[in-house]
Amino acid sequence: MILYERLRLVFADVDDSLCLDPDSVAERITPRTRAVVFVGLGGNCGQYARIVELCRMHGLALVLDAAHMAGTRLDGRHVGLQANAAVYSFNAVKNLPTADSGMICFRDGDDDARAGKLSCLGINKDTYSRTTAEGSYEWRYDVEDVGYKYYGNSIMAAIALVQLRYLDHDNAYRRQLVVWYEKGFAGAKTISMPPITSNCESSRHLFQIRVRNRDDVMLALRQHQIYAGVHYNDNTDYRMYAYGNGTCPRAHRASREIISLPIHLSLNYADVLQVCELIKRHARI
Ligand SMILES: *Cc1c(COP(=O)(O)O)cnc(C)c1O
Repeated sequence: MILYERLRLVFADVDDSLCLDPDSVAERITPRTRAVVFVGLGGNCGQYARIVELCRMHGLALVLDAAHMAGTRLDGRHVGLQANAAVYSFNAVKNLPTADSGMICFRDGDDDARAGKLSCLGINKDTYSRTTAEGSYEWRYDVEDVGYKYYGNSIMAAIALVQLRYLDHDNAYRRQLVVWYEKGFAGAKTISMPPITSNCESSRHLFQIRVRNRDDVMLALRQHQIYAGVHYNDNTDYRMYAYGNGTCPRAHRASREIISLPIHLSLNYADVLQVCELIKRHARI
């Protein structure tokens, strides 16, 4: 998204929560900096509040990548209000799945109107208002911009409205799974977990642990048909972003140690303990 707009993407490092470290961001702000993108990894808020402050101080736009954060609350309220844009994903693997869709919440009404227009071919009236608005020559419209065909559709929206009813309940069960995982790993010196910010009720899109011999542990899990994941590789290891290689040592190290454990809604207590036992057997100091 950043490169499409021919902007220059600068990487900043993460902290223990695996979210952006505000100190690292502050070091990399220059007069040419325009915006910060914060990823709420796994549904966690990390030091988001400090990032909000930093952006305010420097007059920078803040985009919250809330793809993992459907249902996440900060100080008891849905996260995202503090950003210029909070971007949710409802694709099939997220906490509020449809099939493939998403939502952008803007703080500013003008941004919202502009995004609406651009997402609908640059037309200044959407199909709905062209068919329903009465007494305003609703069949007339203008094309004011080069737009895109990026709008959602009613089928996905209908699915999302039903999923929304289950979101908080499902997330609460994910948090229960985490409590069981934490119990299963209690006292294990070979396993650590990224801390969750205290005033953040995480959607728990992911449950991540860190181990020294990650690839061995992943292979052992696979042999038992337990399919764990890695979120994510260090972006600067990809050829496209190789210019950033070496600039984010904590992210780099984490990308070699992290494992996302199963946290789907069909798991029960016994399943979780079985995963824990297996990992404790294979994780090394
Ligand atoms: C899934 C995901 C996205 C992309 O979401 P789409 O709905 O596929 O556009 C972006 N950021 C993060 C962190 C994600 O997990």
